[in-house]
Amino acid sequence: MNQQIFQTPIEYLKGVGVARADVLKKELGIFTFADLLRHFPYKYIDRTRFYKIREANPDLPHVQIIVRLKSKEILGEKHTKRLIAQVYDDTGTMELAWFQGIKWIEKSLIVGKAYVVFGKPGLFNGKAQMAHPEIELYSPEAIKKQGNLKLQPAYSSTEKLKPFSLDSKGIQKLIAILLEQTAKDIEESIPQHLLQKLRLIGRREAYMNIHFPADTSHLNLAVDRLKFEELFFIQFKLLKNKLLHTLKFKGNIFGTVGSYFNEFYKNKLPFDLTNAQKRVLKEIRQDTQRGIQMNRLLQGDVGSGKTVVALMSMLLAIDNGFQTCIMAPTEILANQHYQSIEQLIDDEFLEVALLTGSTSAKKRKVLHQKLESGDLKILIGTHALIEDKVQFKNLGFVVIDEQHRFGVEQRAKLWRKNIIPPHVLVMTATPIPRTLAMTLYGDLDVSVIDELPAGRKPIETLHLYDSHRLRMFGFMKREIDKGRQVYVVYPLIKESEKLDLKNLTDGIEVMAREFPLPQYRISIVHGQMSASDKDFEMQRFIKGETQIMVATTVIEVGVNVPNASVMIIENAERFGLSQLHQLRGRVGRGAEQSYCILMSSHKLSHDGKIRLETMVKTNNGFEISEIDLQLRGPGNIEGTQQSGVLDLKLANLATDQQLLMIARKCVEGIFEKDPQLQLPENQILNQTSHTHNGGLSWDKIS
Ligand code: ADP
Ligand code: MG
Repeated sequence: MNQQIFQTPIEYLKGVGVARADVLKKELGIFTFADLLRHFPYKYIDRTRFYKIREANPDLPHVQIIVRLKSKEILGEKHTKRLIAQVYDDTGTMELAWFQGIKWIEKSLIVGKAYVVFGKPGLFNGKAQMAHPEIELYSPEAIKKQGNLKLQPAYSSTEKLKPFSLDSKGIQKLIAILLEQTAKDIEESIPQHLLQKLRLIGRREAYMNIHFPADTSHLNLAVDRLKFEELFFIQFKLLKNKLLHTLKFKGNIFGTVGSYFNEFYKNKLPFDLTNAQKRVLKEIRQDTQRGIQMNRLLQGDVGSGKTVVALMSMLLAIDNGFQTCIMAPTEILANQHYQSIEQLIDDEFLEVALLTGSTSAKKRKVLHQKLESGDLKILIGTHALIEDKVQFKNLGFVVIDEQHRFGVEQRAKLWRKNIIPPHVLVMTATPIPRTLAMTLYGDLDVSVIDELPAGRKPIETLHLYDSHRLRMFGFMKREIDKGRQVYVVYPLIKESEKLDLKNLTDGIEVMAREFPLPQYRISIVHGQMSASDKDFEMQRFIKGETQIMVATTVIEVGVNVPNASVMIIENAERFGLSQLHQLRGRVGRGAEQSYCILMSSHKLSHDGKIRLETMVKTNNGFEISEIDLQLRGPGNIEGTQQSGVLDLKLANLATDQQLLMIARKCVEGIFEKDPQLQLPENQILNQTSHTHNGGLSWDKIS
């Protein structure tokens, strides 16, 4: 057996050659035999049955119908020129239309003859119609000939490929040649015991059937098998890395719970922890006693109380003689963390320092010294923390906020700040569905805070159309007059010619008119302001000097003003679900009942409507993220874009969740029973090289 064969450059396939290879590479990214084999059909054309004209409704995919030609005529001039043919069968009549290749097709059509037409049924002026159907003379022999290929694969192609005869049919031919030559070399990649348990077909059979299915049930089996393979090897790779990681990276042991932790818990913590917070703390405590570096993701909705959990874990580290830090993606966020931690502990108890891009050189110098001497135990900051100049005496615990904005590389940089790498807690306030987390962060342990602190009043969410704007103003007034503060968020800063959307510039005018000085004051924050102007405006709002904060989505994360109890989002239909949820999370932070008002135009798309309905219906970030996943597909979920992990050919993390869970379980089972992959039944897993595309790379591990 020679797996090398699948790495053969595509030009060496019979019928390809240099010129075609060139366009295949450029247009479809097909460089090797393996690439071509994995250029799967995007649909199958059902030639298993003939339809009748009466059945041909526009909901059907491509269908074939046997018809007789009644008439044909060429209509129109130049651009409107078209060939129209009337056809019929024993159930009705239908119109066929061509807009290109008119002359040639017209010549080949003979009135009175029977034809097989094949195309997508449509309606035109209420009448059955088919545009640009494939058409051929009907003959029983021709029908018999297609008999052995009932589901015809259709392959994606491009205009540039067509001059090389590489339309769907042309590609199909190449794949047939390839399979004929190499099918015998396609080796199994998944252990037999799993195939048997899950009733999956073999790999060779799957490849043959996904391209040329004998029938629908064979096709389904092929797709199932190949999807599983894809998901299985992603999980295999992730869990293998995780296992290697635990073998490779020692971790400091936090053996004692000491005076910082206890003092804080007994005398400083202003509330009872929720059960979820306690559970997560316990998980972290366990992690930090194993002598292995912790790598844990903490997911929790906005306001679920992640910060306290982070702080208490840090106190635990400090009790054991280590320094700690929190790294946030933006200066605003770093500031927020700094402030919320300062609120929980005073400088007498423990000094907390802030390090960002705008920290003065003088302060920096002092900071650097205190870090090197070990006097400073808690540092909060931005990327500035990972600069080489910043050296700790003994960094033992790192909190990273908002994971998806930091790359793995940056995470690793923090590890290197110590001989024994610090434990890492990654926090994200963007809940993502379980299956996505399993894939994106499959190599981390995951903790979830799925419970809000007691006594929180759920935010009430309301959807209003633009025509109800007066109601909105009235509501704002009442809340402000009660002493509350209000955010108003706009999708755009300035008027746009292309988009008919509310913008901040107009919004400021409207608000200034409705809420005049001196009684009302307005803060303005948007992305085109300088950091110091932004900060100035934020501070005015935080201090309560202004009642209304007019902003773009720059206020999406981190801003914490407990007295702000109303969030108004203009053109809410234009925002994604996770963004709406984040924005809403800016309110509901104090004791007062909070509200979120989603303003929208009357023109709502289907998805836009579902988004707004979802927001009105639930406050639960995990539930919202599931719906987001269903609406947008995994590739568009915030934080997933850069991740090649989601580059799946067949499986879909939105619709194949169950299969993913099964794949994960299988891999877990294997590593639990046989972590070194020494059992004969698992040898196959040592042989194949597994890319994240599902073990479909054909080279061997060297
Ligand atoms: P997150 O970072 O998850 O968005 P925070 O940690 O900022 O949430 O907490 C939000 C607010 O809730 C803070 O004011 C915090 O002091 C408070 N809080 C946290 N845990 C509890 C709790 N168990 N009971 C009451 N309030 C809590
Ligand atoms: Mg927070």
